[in-house]
Amino acid sequence: MSHILHRNLRQVPPTAVAADGIRIRDKAGRVYIDASGGAAVSSLGHGHPDVIAAMHRQIDKVAYAHTGFFTTDAAEELADRLIAGAPQDIGAVYLVSGGSEAMETALKLARQYWVEAGEPQRKLFMARRQSYHGNTLGALAVGGNEWRRRDFAPLLMDTVRVSACYEYRGRAAHQSVDDYTAGLLDELETRILEAGPENIIAFVAEPVVGATGGAIPPTPGYFQGVREICDRYRILLIADEVMCGMGRTGTMYAIEQDGVAPDIIAVAKGLAAGYQPIGAVLAHQTIADCLRKGSGVFQHGHTYIGHPVAAAAALEVQNVIERDDLLGRVRSRGATLRRMPGDVFGVHEHVGDIRGRGLLLALEFVQDRASKTPFPPERRLHAAIKAKAMENGLMVYPMGGTIDGQHGDHVLLAPPFIATAADLSEIVSRLSDAVEAALNS
Ligand code: PMP
Repeated sequence: MSHILHRNLRQVPPTAVAADGIRIRDKAGRVYIDASGGAAVSSLGHGHPDVIAAMHRQIDKVAYAHTGFFTTDAAEELADRLIAGAPQDIGAVYLVSGGSEAMETALKLARQYWVEAGEPQRKLFMARRQSYHGNTLGALAVGGNEWRRRDFAPLLMDTVRVSACYEYRGRAAHQSVDDYTAGLLDELETRILEAGPENIIAFVAEPVVGATGGAIPPTPGYFQGVREICDRYRILLIADEVMCGMGRTGTMYAIEQDGVAPDIIAVAKGLAAGYQPIGAVLAHQTIADCLRKGSGVFQHGHTYIGHPVAAAAALEVQNVIERDDLLGRVRSRGATLRRMPGDVFGVHEHVGDIRGRGLLLALEFVQDRASKTPFPPERRLHAAIKAKAMENGLMVYPMGGTIDGQHGDHVLLAPPFIATAADLSEIVSRLSDAVEAALNS
């Protein structure tokens, strides 16, 4: 009997006792390939000696120093490093302990910016239906993930909601991609005008949708259109790159590939690749300057912000990514991985869509390819695939849920950047077995 409230309250998961490279071993001696990097976290795999050594060095120097009293070289160097690799005009960094904290921080920073800029009437966030921004109340409020929100809905602030850019389900057969994109941008503008642009703090979006539906890249021109609309109505653009950032899609930030610079970026997961819990918020210089010249205080803070060991781990992860040209590797391996399910499954009658960017890939399962009819929610196909994959020594990230009244079963792959082509073949072959076993169960 475990005293931990595990994710599944009725079932204790296997106990991980060792982890090396892309594999994790449990107490019973079973070995699992980490094909999802946990939840798109472990970009360097497990047990990386350079990251572990960097953490040891920092623990020996200063394991913790409260930011109300001190800064540390580790935190400063990490911030410099993040700014150097960030889109133009991003000039300030706030270090937190994870993705939800990063999103809460981003929302509060955006709100305080407008208060200090003399526009305190701005009280509304805009976000997309198909989205996940974290599990704390503010982040949950802007997120559109219905099953995560359900029990807490009365506690959540109102958010102006628009459709996500989800071509597989959203674009009609007769519609061109450009027309579909233009329609989404029209909807965004209409909702802004309805709510009153002067009331809106920011538009929040994941450049590549992660945990709700999975690995959904935007259509060409979508984010450029969003940026133009945000500029036209003086609304901040917050990019939630908690899952898709830090190299996962082949560039440091996923939105770089859309040619857009957001005002605020939230990152976590891949930042220290799971070696320590850490997230960061990157903000436009104008926002930081406004607070500096105004109250001089960002009205926020947690005990573990700027944690030196977490910062040292993140800095070393970023050093390794640069030194070993892992972004180049994500791009080439990503292209291989995207082709593989098609090669292995062929045109599978129940695989409706294979999509992603870099080493973030998702498969969407349907009962019928032509009509895109989903499986009934009670079948919980995504969960069955995960269970069969675990029996097969494979970790994949399952997602199922209802979006706009429509159920979906998805499986996300986010293997470590260090995975070899042979590892990827093994992953897809084991996944294929798990899918067949789940479909036949
Ligand atoms: N935003 C996005 C896009 C995410 O994918 C996640 C985690 N799945 C979060 C925020 C929340 O991050 P965390 O679980 O570290 O709090």
